[in-house]
Amino acid sequence: MTISDINETHDAARTSWVDSAQGHADFPIQNLPLGVFSVGGDQPRGGVAIGDQIVDLAALSALGVLEGLAQEAAVTASTGTLNALLAMGPEPRAALRFALSALLSDADQRASVEPVLVAQADATMHLPVTIGDYTDFYVGINHATNIGKLLRPDNPLAPNYKYVPIGYHGRASSVCPSGARVIRPTGQRKGPDDAEPSVGPSRRLDYELELGVWVGEGNALGEPIPIGRAGKHVAGLSIFNDWSARDLQAWEYQPLGPFLSKSFISTVTPWIVTAEALAPYRVAQPPRPEGDPKPLDYLWDEADQAHGAFALTLEVFIETAQMREKGIAPHKLSSGPATSMYWTVAQMVAHHTSNGCNMRPGDLLGTGTISGPDNASFGSLMEISQAGKHAFTLETGETRTFLEAGDRITIRATASAEGYASIGFGSCVGTVEERPSA
Ligand code: CA
Repeated sequence: MTISDINETHDAARTSWVDSAQGHADFPIQNLPLGVFSVGGDQPRGGVAIGDQIVDLAALSALGVLEGLAQEAAVTASTGTLNALLAMGPEPRAALRFALSALLSDADQRASVEPVLVAQADATMHLPVTIGDYTDFYVGINHATNIGKLLRPDNPLAPNYKYVPIGYHGRASSVCPSGARVIRPTGQRKGPDDAEPSVGPSRRLDYELELGVWVGEGNALGEPIPIGRAGKHVAGLSIFNDWSARDLQAWEYQPLGPFLSKSFISTVTPWIVTAEALAPYRVAQPPRPEGDPKPLDYLWDEADQAHGAFALTLEVFIETAQMREKGIAPHKLSSGPATSMYWTVAQMVAHHTSNGCNMRPGDLLGTGTISGPDNASFGSLMEISQAGKHAFTLETGETRTFLEAGDRITIRATASAEGYASIGFGSCVGTVEERPSA
């Protein structure tokens, strides 16, 4: 992504005849994210968010107001998944964005386009794609250091961390759109003082604040994506919550890494905020601390270093059942920037495919937990509570180390840059429930 990718669709002065789009925290006309929705049990289909509305792409494509690549993109997005659209690469996506931005900002188009809008309040959001594979990375260096300190106080970061973008293959089947039920998992737990493991509900249920990266065009098996072209294979971003059962994790993770402690559910915001929309918010990857190794050649690209990070502010809120009953506003658990990622998204893609592994359109890459340097910006309760040692107190007087039934976690993200409208991702929400007894 370069400065030339910024065009009139990013103009902060552009407004829409969709009234709710003006100053909308997430979906002003400068955003135009892609998703899949349905209304009243009808066929799921592609849509684009604008304010509190959705442009129905199937209905739009039937109007005859789109041409060429934009029309092709809208028709391709008219089915129940956007995999085929993502497979087409950036040009049709950009063409659709360009056409929609023009239609939604031109008052003369209102009469013809307004009938294809659907209120978000009336719609059910689905996953935007069929996720073939999901991989979770570990690029949040503060998180990796904080977790490492809890496990290995003398040697928090493993020696490979600064050379290898660490990741593991996760479970795609349990990735759900925001709002899905988060049922406390049952599993094997063994505390350090327990002689034997026991089976039961996790006592250390946690969230993980992450970004989700949607793969666009894939690569053939055996043909790595070079870092210089990796950006072209990224369709966009969402907010991702990698719910985690810390007690299950601590007992099961050696030697092969996370398994059932992670695969019970992950939650993602259903709107793909496209790479095109994010162009103004690209910033330089922060320089590595003095003494850290330079990334190996296959992970090094000057342009990626210059524009490979994102100016995003990430926020996490908790709201207990009691807070909801009493009308108390959600409590902010953390707020921090996304620039504490030690590796860029392009480095994640280049590394993942460096052995010849093939990415497919709609694959999902989690960044790993993104934490800032201090308690006010930690991206998990594991860090905030120091592995359960320090409880925090909410406005109701309730205390928490990990999540209890009724606790609702909401993650939000805002992209902002001087001279540009801020855009968001929608809320990534999940409410903890106990497993119903059989
Ligand atoms: Ca994770």
